[in-house]
Amino acid sequence: MNIFKESIAIKTNKRFEIVDITDKINHIISKHGIELGIANIFSKHSTSAIIINENESGLLKDIENLLSSIVIDENSYYHDRIDNNADSHLKGVLLSSSQSIPISNNSLNLGTWQSVFFIDFDGPRNRVVEVTLAGQ
Ligand code: ZN
Repeated sequence: MNIFKESIAIKTNKRFEIVDITDKINHIISKHGIELGIANIFSKHSTSAIIINENESGLLKDIENLLSSIVIDENSYYHDRIDNNADSHLKGVLLSSSQSIPISNNSLNLGTWQSVFFIDFDGPRNRVVEVTLAGQ
């Protein structure tokens, strides 16, 4: 078994932005020639998330609206006393900073309608996602 680590640099352009990173991950997997294994995708930021879902523009809007309906911008949050982005952290709390996905036949073994997304809750920023691959 081999283990590889790579970083994906992501530059977001809006405060809330969903970025499909599936192709970038698959490119890294095929570069290392991993036929069978597992990929861990980890965001190194506390105001972001990694999710797996369908890349359909209406659904991506629905995800943004769902999170905004749970974490209300106008609420008074303690963290806003020192850093005006409590809502961004709280949206991160609701999701996950990482996903582990099986690798098969030199690519992520995702379902037909599944893609891997990085979500920025506090852009625009330069972000880094770590990709760790284990397999052969
Ligand atoms: Zn903060």
